[in-house]
Formats: sequence, structure tokens, C-alpha cells
Amino acid sequence: MRTKIVAGNWKMNKNLTESLSLISEVRSMVRDEIRHDVEVMLFPPFISLASANKLLEGANLKLGAQNCYHEKNGAFTGEVSLSMLESVGVSTVLVGHSERRSIFGETNEELAKKTRAVLNAGMTPIYCCGETLENREDNSYFKVIESQIEEGLFHLHEDQFKQIVIAYEPVWAIGTGVTASKEQAQEMHAHIRSFISNKYGEKIAADIRILYGGSVKPDNAKDLFSSPDIDGGLIGGAALKSRDFVEIVKASR
Ligand code: PEP
Repeated sequence: MRTKIVAGNWKMNKNLTESLSLISEVRSMVRDEIRHDVEVMLFPPFISLASANKLLEGANLKLGAQNCYHEKNGAFTGEVSLSMLESVGVSTVLVGHSERRSIFGETNEELAKKTRAVLNAGMTPIYCCGETLENREDNSYFKVIESQIEEGLFHLHEDQFKQIVIAYEPVWAIGTGVTASKEQAQEMHAHIRSFISNKYGEKIAADIRILYGGSVKPDNAKDLFSSPDIDGGLIGGAALKSRDFVEIVKASR
């Protein structure tokens, strides 16, 4: 039985004051909604993490970072290491969000290093993959996802691979208001699971959690999350409104 995850990626939104008030709202609204059957994670901007960690003390909410650098320390101006993230209570790190890939040019090779570094630091990577509209239209989308997963993740030993979470986020659905249909999402999630099975075996493939991301809203979440291979969601825009985010958490149960 795979425990569902609902993760809110705030991207570059909310200053410190705004972050803390959104966290307080989510914390109080979600209190009765979190049971053992869903993990709820918040990914505020870096500058809010330390204060968010204090505010989340005793709450059943996990704190995540939107990015990291793979080196331990040194002359890497502007970067944030995993031990820094650990020191502010981060347990999960997004790796390879499509905005990191397309705007900041992160490659599968770099993402492989980040994934390994996150695991070596004892944290959970959520490895994002997704095809563009062009890939969807020219029918190369399965191949694109396969190469993102193969190059970014298949270097891992199975003991490490077991600990990762994958987020399938079609780029054409992120922030556009266009959601993949339940059938499109389920088809890709099942494909990812069978691709993993060919490499790591059926048991690991059956246990790995695969989240869907791309314009998940309160009114489509239940439908998407009821698909057999969809284990929750990575939520962007709707995570910025406490009520919407909590409705999505409820829809995961
Ligand atoms: C995201 O950025 O991961 C995302 C899924 O965004 P949105 O929900 O706004 O499409």
C-alpha cells in the first residue's frame, strides 16, 4: 500500500511574512485532515525555511526545498547545500522541476548528481519529469520520459532507488490551467512503473510513489488521485491558497 503525498511547490512566491501566514493557515486547517494515509509537504522559498521549520514544530507537515546543489560546500556562490537544508529541517528536495530544466538549463546528468547527493544526505528526492507539448504532439512523449528517468535515476543502486519519489508533470499542463486527463496521466504513470520494473523489478516498481503535477485544483484532484497508479500530487498555483490546498489534501484520502 503506497501512502499518498500532497506537496505544495510555492516556486518564487511569498516573502517571509507571507510564507509564515500561509503556513499558519495550512497548519490550522489541515490539522484534522492528516491521517496516516497521506503525507503533506510544503516547499516554500529558501529564505522562509528556517522560520517555517520553527512554525511547523509538532505539526504533521513535512518541509521541503525546491532545489539544492550537489557539492557539500565551497566556492559555489548563490548555491545551497544539503547540510544547510538539513539544518533547517528539510527532509525532501525537488530535483529537476521543469522550470529548473527549461529556464536554468539543468541537464539529466546534473540532476543525477543532485539526486545522489540528496539520498546520501539521508533525504528524499522528488524527481520531476515531463514532456513538452511538442513531444506530446509528435508522439515522442514516452521516449522523453524514459530518457529523463534513465539518465537521471538509473545510476542508483536499488536500495537507493527505493527511496525516491517521482513526479510526472507534463510541461504543457504546468501553470496553464490545462490538466492532463485522468486517462493521459494514468497511462503515463503506468508506463513509468513498467519502465522501472524492467530495470529494478516488479516489487520496487509497485512500491515507488509517482505523483502527478500540472494544474491540479480542488475540482479535478479527486478524479486524478483515484487512478490506480497516481499516488498524489505536486501542486503549484493551488498551493498558494490555503483553502484550495487543503481541499486537495482532502481529495487524496
Ligand atoms: C508545479 O509547478 O509543479 C505545478 C504543477 O504547477 P501548477 O499546479 O500551477 O500547474
